[in-house]
Amino acid sequence: MAVTPSPFLDPGTHASANNLGILQLRRDQLIPAVLSPHADSDYAEGKVENTRFGSFPHSTLVGQPWGTQILASVVDTGSRGKSKKRKRNGDEENGETANSNAKEAKRDLVKAATASSGFAHLVPPTPETWTLSLPHRTQVVYTPDYSYILQRLRVRPGDHIIEAGAGSGSFTHASVRAVYNGYPGQEETSNGREDTPEEAVGVSKKRKRTQRNGAVYSFEYHEPRARQLRVEIKDHGLESLVTLTHRDVYADGFCLDDNSGPDADAIFLDLPAPWQALQYLTRSPPSSAALKSVSSDPSTPTPTTSADPTPSTTPFRSPLNPRKAVRICTFSPCIEQVTKTVSALRTLGWVEIDMVELNAKRLDVRRERVGLAEEGVRGGNASAATVQEAVQRLRDVEGRAAVFHSLQKEKQDEIMRRAEARKRGENVDGDAKVGKKDKESERLEGVPPSKQDRMEKVKKELESRTLFKEGRLVHRTEPEIKTHTSYLVFAVLPRDWTKEDEAKARKKWGKK
Ligand code: SAM
Repeated sequence: MAVTPSPFLDPGTHASANNLGILQLRRDQLIPAVLSPHADSDYAEGKVENTRFGSFPHSTLVGQPWGTQILASVVDTGSRGKSKKRKRNGDEENGETANSNAKEAKRDLVKAATASSGFAHLVPPTPETWTLSLPHRTQVVYTPDYSYILQRLRVRPGDHIIEAGAGSGSFTHASVRAVYNGYPGQEETSNGREDTPEEAVGVSKKRKRTQRNGAVYSFEYHEPRARQLRVEIKDHGLESLVTLTHRDVYADGFCLDDNSGPDADAIFLDLPAPWQALQYLTRSPPSSAALKSVSSDPSTPTPTTSADPTPSTTPFRSPLNPRKAVRICTFSPCIEQVTKTVSALRTLGWVEIDMVELNAKRLDVRRERVGLAEEGVRGGNASAATVQEAVQRLRDVEGRAAVFHSLQKEKQDEIMRRAEARKRGENVDGDAKVGKKDKESERLEGVPPSKQDRMEKVKKELESRTLFKEGRLVHRTEPEIKTHTSYLVFAVLPRDWTKEDEAKARKKWGKK
């Protein structure tokens, strides 16, 4: 069955209508938009993204290859309001539906005129661009953290991940890409695309039967956040890969009501009190001593299920994959949270527990252009690049100063000479003026260029220079690390090992 893949998993080569596109204004200033040029809009040009770098009608974005630099447009602000009025009147007069309004907008769309300045880049949606542009409802996990977390959790296509709380969905998008190996019900190869008939022949029946689709099981107890994330997941074509449950995991754990999972290989907890959720992440019912120890902290609200003195009648179900060692990561900003989490992990049988703090530092990579030729050129450093350049500039300055002083001296001598001549009753004014001008221009010939001359020369040379290729490639680190984000606690829960497993392993691998 052919499924249209999410633009997050396969964005194609071009931006298309009714799909998400991201306008990148600056390195970390991005605007997400579902591209719908014909949607009802106040503008004659259709739907428009207005930014500090200009206006971008969706009609100028749809059909463009990803990565294109889009020039801003002049939008017809004069028609704002008119179109609204037209729509309202239309509705009143003949009761047209929203659908026919959209059609009307489609007919009337005015071609956008390019503005004299302003541009942005059109980039595809990815977890990285989404993290930088998503509407924040909570603190989110950023790219450096989730990249590290996902590789430490050894997440790979086909895995199942438990995530709580889902918050703004930043980690959700990163994790769904990491586990993606196709949509449920689709026949796939391990890289997630459909088999060609030739490939299908080569894929053994056994592998097809045993292949599991990657999935994310996300939990969030804040109802409005869960609702909004559900809408976004649907809009992004990820609903068959992400199961979002509105639930308090401290109270109700991670098993789904319909017994369908999660069967998790990896867990990520971004919760204020992860230790309270750990009691549900076991392979068998935790002993009452373990439960007591996990919930013994008086500052911790006691989890409802473990504190309930009446024994539960529902049989224990583990949300973990019984066939594999399961990895966990918890994300906590305070060391006190880490201590409690580590202690609960130990009590519940987790091993290889360690803590990591990530301090991401950004590097600014650019070309450094140094030299006198950079005088007045944007982004250049106009200091002398070599000793020769410095000496030459000194000679020029001194040369010009010498000419200036000798001209001043001549001027002074001339004044004195004329004063003497006047005393003697001679008339020398007219000749002197002509002679002075000639002399000045004579002396200025061959004099080192003035700043104005130099600037004109630089301007001329700029026409044939390729600035982006020039200069030394350098990098600078940010002067300060902005903040510490959180402490990451990692641990592994080995799979259960029964006598039968041991016998099987001996039979398979033991000495004959
Ligand atoms: N990891 C998310 C992201 O990358 O966007 C951000 C998570 S946010 C920091 C923490 C979320 O945990 C909040 O949305 C909060 O509502 C949720 N939460 C807190 N306690 C919870 C609980 N007991 N069960 C489920 N979710 C919970």
